[in-house]
Amino acid sequence: MQVPATFAYERADSVPHAIALLERYGPDARIVAGGHSLIPMMKLRLAQPEALIDINGLAGELGRVAIEREGEGEELAIGALVRHAELLDSTAATDLFPIFRDAERVIADPIVRNRGTVGGSLCQADPSEDLAAVFAALGATAVIQGPGGVRTVPIREFHRGPYETAVEPNELLIQLRVPVRPGTGSAYEKVERRVGDWPVAAAGAVLTVEDGVITSAGIGLTAVGAEGFHAPEAEELLTGRPPGAEAFAEAGRVAAEHCEPHADQRGPADYKRHLAAELTRRALTTAAGRI
Ligand SMILES: Cc1cc2nc3c(=O)[nH]c(=O)nc-3n(C[C@H](O)[C@H](O)[C@H](O)COP(=O)(O)OP(=O)(O)OC[C@H]3O[C@@H](n4cnc5c(N)ncnc54)[C@H](O)[C@@H]3O)c2cc1C
Repeated sequence: MQVPATFAYERADSVPHAIALLERYGPDARIVAGGHSLIPMMKLRLAQPEALIDINGLAGELGRVAIEREGEGEELAIGALVRHAELLDSTAATDLFPIFRDAERVIADPIVRNRGTVGGSLCQADPSEDLAAVFAALGATAVIQGPGGVRTVPIREFHRGPYETAVEPNELLIQLRVPVRPGTGSAYEKVERRVGDWPVAAAGAVLTVEDGVITSAGIGLTAVGAEGFHAPEAEELLTGRPPGAEAFAEAGRVAAEHCEPHADQRGPADYKRHLAAELTRRALTTAAGRI
């Protein structure tokens, strides 16, 4: 089946308008951003929304990458409609957090990256999604807007399961916010079967070091069945220790122990577990070198 079922189509002209349209059409309406996940699913009849609410006209509200003051510090704000290619091109984002450059270079191909969005990727909640691991490693916060106003959800609580998120049917993911800390390095390591493919396994690392000691460690994992796309036991193990090869190898082993990879066409479970350990170790090593 390569033709979607019939659906109504609306173009939102503001975030409140998009939310009003979601309310009007009810739970069978869906937001469409880049359409790279949703449209193929509709063609295969795996998704049959009654109405599509197109948010592509909202780049003014949802398409910005900016460093903003937040209390005493700063946060990097990334709009939900920012395209993969725009994030890759944003020096504001990639200079602060090279993990974005590492990851975006290996997500799909230029055609998908030109249309696919940060918000669409996170809301699709594919268990192999690269950006889920990136934002989990960064300890980001998701900003969600609905009829009742704006609320925030830590990204590690955003994904409720495969293809399921904290965003309610009448809500919109509008932004991701990442805390900016001095003394931070970050990196992303992915193994894919061929260029542009989804990961067999991938790991992201974000390290903050003060006075020779790790004060904050973020480890994101994807495609290996890590709950919330992160590795809290390995993060805990690193905190308070000096960065080094031994600590990073141990963190990799602990991260892998807590994964539950499944065998599929991308590889057997034990291979994926091995990758989780090795890619975590490599990402931590590169992140430390970038501080
Ligand atoms: C050939 C191919 C290869 C790919 N390879 C990779 C890869 O290697 N790694 C990887 O991580 N991804 C990969 N992807 C996925 C890609 O990153 C898509 O861009 C992404 O899955 C969806 O983004 P989108 O903007 O197209 O979302 P859409 O398809 O428009 O939407 C996806 C879902 O999110 C919802 N949604 C979208 N935006 C919002 C919002 N702001 N608020 C609430 N709900 C929203 C929609 O209703 C829908 O349910 C690949 C895709 C393709 C087609």
